[in-house]
Amino acid sequence: MRNDTKCIHAGYTPGNGEPRMIPIIESTTFKYESSQAMGDLFDLKASGYFYSRLQNPTCDMVAAKLAALEGGTAGMLTSSGQAANFFAVFNIANAGDHIVSSSAIYGGTFNLFQVTMKKMGIDFTFVAPDCTEEELNAAFKPNTKAVFGETIANPALTVLDIEKFVKAAHEHGVPFIIDNTFATPINCRPIEWGADIVTHSTTKYLDGHDSAVGGAIIDAGNFDWMAHKDKFPGLTTPDDSYHGIIYAEQFGKEGAFITKATAQLMRDFGSIPSPFSAYILNLGIESVSVRMKRHCENGQKIAEFLEAHDKVAWVNYPGLKSSRDYALAQKYMPNGTCGVVSFELKGGRQTAEDFMGHLKVAMIATHVADAHTCVLHPASSTHRQLTDQELEDCGVSPGMIRYSAGIEDVQDLIEDLEQALDQI
Ligand SMILES: *Cc1c(COP(=O)(O)O)cnc(C)c1O
Repeated sequence: MRNDTKCIHAGYTPGNGEPRMIPIIESTTFKYESSQAMGDLFDLKASGYFYSRLQNPTCDMVAAKLAALEGGTAGMLTSSGQAANFFAVFNIANAGDHIVSSSAIYGGTFNLFQVTMKKMGIDFTFVAPDCTEEELNAAFKPNTKAVFGETIANPALTVLDIEKFVKAAHEHGVPFIIDNTFATPINCRPIEWGADIVTHSTTKYLDGHDSAVGGAIIDAGNFDWMAHKDKFPGLTTPDDSYHGIIYAEQFGKEGAFITKATAQLMRDFGSIPSPFSAYILNLGIESVSVRMKRHCENGQKIAEFLEAHDKVAWVNYPGLKSSRDYALAQKYMPNGTCGVVSFELKGGRQTAEDFMGHLKVAMIATHVADAHTCVLHPASSTHRQLTDQELEDCGVSPGMIRYSAGIEDVQDLIEDLEQALDQI
């Protein structure tokens, strides 16, 4: 099946007389005939459901659909994108370990890494996405356990040179983890470029309707943990909390990462989405391939309109020929990138806030990447905690506006922008 078909059919195949839609199995627990049967599940000797904090059938069907869309071998849903990125890194890095990350990443992820995970004893080195191979290689340490990046950075819209990051990660014997939220598997499938682990904030385009916060992790199933046994003891040595199971042996390259993340991290942190949220997410995924085309068309037209307007200082959209990342976008996302456009008005920060107040169709919201057009001023909201230097490092200027084109008629969006620009 091609991706447009997988959006509808992957992850769940109804049998005779069964519901056509993924059913909502809103049950905490599952019944077994014997304590022995239940015990085998607890020992990971048998697979099955016993408690929805670890796994739930509705969530798993949606995770399987996402794994199919990304071309991975296993997937899991989490309660948010934050949980997905935390789990993806914490599943292989312990206190005393180190991660190399692109500096052009979502502000929430930056905070998670730089502040919270640092307190847990995990160190990060941030590298500019456009660094040279030498600079990238120089960031590695003997205790580096992974490399992290974002396909299209939120909100800087930097397009990552995926192959460059994959190459450096693999040369150092560690996996490359990529947050593919903005591109979605419709516009980019990082696994085809060598990525090992893909994460998502499904809250954005995948859900796409401002409805359910959620996240996902997908494993490509390609990374050979056993070939780097000493680096990843959590996957390659016995887990005492499961009677000495060795994940990489028992579940192989295809299943070890997600099984460990479920059996340990989900068990202990409990960041599971509700089956109902997973159902909502699935409704969104069914139409994501159709919606992405419209988001990209609208984003392109809005970027071109803004670029031609004399009150606009600059526009950044990877689909514009003037974008520094145009060539990378053409390479990795030939069918389009996303609907998010960033720009700055002449007059900077104060003008930005005035302008936003005049918009009528586009709503001011701490959100992005959904059906309803919205705008945000990152420096006074999502990125408020960052210093000016940190803002610059992740590609956010104080006057920058992030405009997320929805799927409305683009002429209405342009007229809305025109009337707001006329008032400043
Ligand atoms: C929003 C976002 C996140 C965080 O996701 P939540 O679902 O809000 O927890 C992570 N990465 C990217 C790229 C995002 O846009």
